[in-house]
Parts: sequence; C-alpha cells; structure tokens
Amino acid sequence: MDRIIFLVDMNAFFISCEMTRHPALRNKPAAVAGDPSRRTGIILAASYEARAFGVRTTMLVHQAQRLCPNLSLVPPDHAFYEQKSAEVMALLARYAPVLEQNSIDEAWLDMTGCQTLFGTPLETARMIMKAINDELSLWCSIGISSNKFLAKMASEMHKPHGITELWPADLAEKLWPLPAGAMYGVGQKTAARLASLGLRTIGDLARVKEDVLVDLLGKFGREISRHARGIDPEPVIPHAEDSVKSIGRSTTLVKDLTNLEEARKVLLELADDVGRSARKHDKMGRTVHIVLKYSDFSVITRQMTVVATYATSEIYQAGSRLLEQNWYPDKPVRLIGISLSGFENEAADRQLSLFDQPEATQTVDRQVRVDQAMDLIRNRFGEKSVTRAKQLKVKGER
Ligand SMILES: [Mg+2]
Repeated sequence: MDRIIFLVDMNAFFISCEMTRHPALRNKPAAVAGDPSRRTGIILAASYEARAFGVRTTMLVHQAQRLCPNLSLVPPDHAFYEQKSAEVMALLARYAPVLEQNSIDEAWLDMTGCQTLFGTPLETARMIMKAINDELSLWCSIGISSNKFLAKMASEMHKPHGITELWPADLAEKLWPLPAGAMYGVGQKTAARLASLGLRTIGDLARVKEDVLVDLLGKFGREISRHARGIDPEPVIPHAEDSVKSIGRSTTLVKDLTNLEEARKVLLELADDVGRSARKHDKMGRTVHIVLKYSDFSVITRQMTVVATYATSEIYQAGSRLLEQNWYPDKPVRLIGISLSGFENEAADRQLSLFDQPEATQTVDRQVRVDQAMDLIRNRFGEKSVTRAKQLKVKGER
C-alpha cells in the first residue's frame, strides 16, 4: 500500500513562540538574537516581516539593524521553545498514529490509513494547521507525500503557511528543476562537488547513473541518487513506544468571556470530551494542562499533576483550579483548551497508584462507573441523551 507521510515544519519558530507571550511583537519586524544589548550576537530566528527587509538567520545583529532599523530584538529562551515544541508535538500526536520528531520545530507523521478518520491528506493538513494556529497561536508549513524525503522537500516549497503535495508523478515539474544544493541533506560542499561534474539540478542527479554518484560520494551518493528519483523507503520511527501522548480538546468561544462561571461550563464540556476519549483508549493520565488565549491573543498554558485518572470530574477539577488561578476580570478569554497527558504505560503502575490512594480511589471508582455508564448511553443514543452538568457534584465548587 502507498504510504502517506506529512512533514510539519513550524514557521519562524523561536520568534513565533516569543510572539505568543509578547503580542506587541506581532506583525512587526522582530528577531530572536544572542545578546542584542551588546549588538554583537547573531540572528537566531527572524519574523517574516523582518525577512522582507533582508534579515536572515546567522546574520550579525548590527548587519540586521542596518537593513532594518526598526527591528525588535529578543534574547533567546530555549527552555520556553522546548516547552512550546512539546506542546506542538502533543497536538500532532492527536492526529498521527506514528510521529517522528526531526528537530525542535518539525516532525514527520505517518498518516497512512487515516483518510477515513480525517478526510483527504489535504483536508487533514488544513485541520492540523488550523488547530496549531487556534490552540497555540503558531503557524506551520506542511509537506505531503508518499515518503519522508519528498514530504520534507514539499514542506520547503511554500512558506509560511503553505500546504504542498509532492507525489511521485509531480517530480519532473516540481522537484527536478531545483538546484542540487536545495536537496535535503546536501550541503554547499557536496553541491560544489556535484557541480564540478556538471550536475546542477536535482533532475541532473536523477538522470545520472547511481554508480557515478556512489564513486563520487560513497554510500551517501546512493541515497542522493534514490532521493532525486523520489525513492525513500525509510520508515517514520516514533521515539516513544506509546503513540498517544496527550488527549486534548479546545474551543474558540463564540464571544470573548469575562465571566468565570460561564468559562467553567465550557471547561466542563471539554473535560468531559477528554475524559471520554481517555476512557475509550484506557489511558489514565497524571497531568492536566489548560490553555487560555486572551482577547489580546496572548496565550498561556498551565499544568497540574494529579493522581492518575480518566474520570471527567477529576480532570475538570484540576482544570477548573488552573482556570481560576489565571482568570482576570479585565482580560477577556477567547479560547479555552484542556488536555490530559503523562499516561501510565504499565498495568503495574496503575496497581501501585490504586494501593497508594485507597480512599480517593473508591470515590473515583464510583465516578468512573458513572462516566462509563454515560459513555455507553451516549454511544447508543447520541450526544444529547444525557447531560452531565446536573449530575456532577464537584468538590470545592460553590
Ligand atoms: Mg524546521
């Protein structure tokens, strides 16, 4: 069966992460740079607005400032980018049964067989791009093909915000005219050696005999030859054995909310969805995580550790506490999200946590039985057949 592989690549990742917490940087020329105060550092990531002035990664700060006098500079915060990266990967894991992270800002997804779940590859890619923007206020480009190499090449073709399909039938038109140096994995030195043989485009590499490239570059020559012809049998290899890392739901509100009680109602619905999905997959999680986007488009994420659970009420209570702690009357909220992660892998883990918490467990067990009964009824009779809000008595809520 033909595979369907996506490469999701985040656009201008570091500076886009900064924009999520500094909305004033949005739509402006801005860059993350090492030591901007001394004007000696280099540009690590530039916004597309800054790139329009010619600002590029690895350029010296004072060079960049000469090109773009209004450039806003932010010092790097790698811990923050790692955290955002983990959020992106957790979101992608909701769509892809198999995911391989390639760097802090990109991952391959093996979407083979997912058409019945999400629609065509193009529709699925649009859904993923929208979720990344809605929930994390970040943008990506997505390449779609039948293998990892072509998906990576496709993802580079339209930036930012591009979705590009590159199937084997499109190679002559879309891939072969590109210079050899544009090939993933081919650096300037290799490109220069290839050029010395008159091999300037990827098409040239596809047409020349594989042996010629092997003589020139050894094993790597064979790979280049195959890639140029659109061949790449490499599987998408997940780094963690457990592919479901997070179960989450979020919603952009019809109107911005300033009333905490109204927000709690929305949160309960989302928590119920998350709990139901976690119960279906038999996944008990130890981390509840919420995301709030305020009306000024700033985004915060907060998390709390809980006793491993998939009970709706437990997920909701943790989320509700986080919501309350981050609720400001003068900061209307436009998006609310909640997720469960930190899943237990071993049955033994679960046994241990049950014995750890004998009393709490009894209550939770009862709640889970109610949850499971409701799941059954809703599966048979539809979503509206039972409403939870009336039945749910939440501790600590007035
Ligand atoms: Mg990248």
